[in-house]
Amino acid sequence: MSQKVKILINGAFIESKAHEHLPVENPASQEILAEVPLTLLSEIDQAIEAATEAFKTWKEVATPERARLFLKYQHLLKEHQKEIAEILSKENGKTFADAMGDVWRGIEVVEHACNIPTLMMGETVENVARGVDTYSYIQPLGVCAGITPFNFPAMIPLWMFPMAIACGNTFILKPSEQTPMTSVKMAELFLEAGFPKGVLNIIHGSKDQVNHILNHPEIKAISFVGSVPVAEHVYRTGTDNLKRVQAFGGAKNHMVVMPDANKGQVINNLVGASCGAAGQRCMAISVAVLVGEAQNWVEDIKTALSTIKPGVWSDESAAFGPLINKQSKEKVLRLIKSAYDQGAEVLLDGSNCKVDGYENGYFVGPTLFNNVSVEMDIYKEEIFGPALLLLKAETLDEAIQIINNNPYGNGTSIFTNSGAAARKFQHEIEVGQIGVNLPIPVPLPFFSFTGWRKSFFGDLHSYGKQGVKFYTETKTITARWFEEDVPGGNVNMTISL
Ligand code: NAD
Repeated sequence: MSQKVKILINGAFIESKAHEHLPVENPASQEILAEVPLTLLSEIDQAIEAATEAFKTWKEVATPERARLFLKYQHLLKEHQKEIAEILSKENGKTFADAMGDVWRGIEVVEHACNIPTLMMGETVENVARGVDTYSYIQPLGVCAGITPFNFPAMIPLWMFPMAIACGNTFILKPSEQTPMTSVKMAELFLEAGFPKGVLNIIHGSKDQVNHILNHPEIKAISFVGSVPVAEHVYRTGTDNLKRVQAFGGAKNHMVVMPDANKGQVINNLVGASCGAAGQRCMAISVAVLVGEAQNWVEDIKTALSTIKPGVWSDESAAFGPLINKQSKEKVLRLIKSAYDQGAEVLLDGSNCKVDGYENGYFVGPTLFNNVSVEMDIYKEEIFGPALLLLKAETLDEAIQIINNNPYGNGTSIFTNSGAAARKFQHEIEVGQIGVNLPIPVPLPFFSFTGWRKSFFGDLHSYGKQGVKFYTETKTITARWFEEDVPGGNVNMTISL
């Protein structure tokens, strides 16, 4: 029998008494790595109780002391980066090199959390009236929760709990049921770093477990990353319950290719940005808009994409791994078929891709569609597979209009040698994260991850200053210290002239 993934409640890793479990499958080999429990709702209540109790003392721990624990945690994550990446690769399927990057981008958020004393500085104004000063502090909210997707099993949980906990909150993490083991490993290291029990708790499961969190009165804020329909549901239900919610959804990211761009750079960047991680990145480039003469580069793009191959995580020559599960592969195959039916030119079709020794793996080869129109299903849906769509535009204005008409707003990029074109693009585009000659512009943690429109529901984004604001409340104090007694009282509002 395969091992059961543990839940973490009040500092103890325990086996859930759940009646149902789901398999955690290696998507290349179909080996069942473990079984993940659909945690009992009563166990979730226990986790929330533990977090509520821990909050009473954790919020009083001096801010520099909290930062010091994160320095220790950062060290441990770096020391165990390869071990975490191996667990991650097996349950997610991405290549080892990509998994190392996944962990690394999370470690960078932990490094940001080490700066928490400066990030939590308030504001002051002296003499708002004669002898009166106003100053503000920011304070933690209480118990916060995070619900994460399968595609970045290390980075996305690390977007959430380190920032929340550094601010003085306690946390309930519900990792993806498809990739839960990476979070458990990272939580073991968290305890080893010396954080008190109950500060971080982990429960596993799916829809019912998420809904229980969304409806629990003790949870003050919810961070969610996943698909658009679930992001909408989480945002609606959480805010309906008067909670603070940040919900990141899916995407359709376009790269505008101007004819004056460096052709070799464009093609190299397109290959990695579209097919890397099997296209299962929320910031993957899935559409290239070729402007003017750049429309002559289609054959070169095809040649470059046809040279890369998927493979198992430990194969160093593999460019990317399998899709996460059978349903994902079926969805991608359905969309490829729809492309033929709806009149796209399928220049590369990865439907029948097989990897030696892993014939049942959920692999799809690099896929390239030309002559795509915005009415086609492959354009309207998030494919989340190793596929690139080529669209044509005669001018930069037309390219901008295509992107602004698309409902998603996670990321976009422009490749050009013209500063004027780049400036016009960054100014007029209605997308939250823009790359100039960079395909996947994910901001480092001292900025924030600022998706727009259907890619994000909420107001305060992940990490950076916005992350700290999301996980805290502002308290503003106006103070006067009397130097001498004054007789009588004043019942009117004061006016300062
Ligand atoms: P998903 O929406 O299926 O699952 C995400 C989480 O929600 C999981 O923890 C899952 O257990 C839970 N969940 C699933 N169905 C639910 C339901 N009906 N009610 C309540 N909870 C539910 O997403 P996924 O397939 O794991 O991840 C891929 C998606 O995430 C893609 O759409 C991708 O674009 C998106 N994503 C977005 C970002 C971003 O920053 N915008 C980052 C990574 C991934």
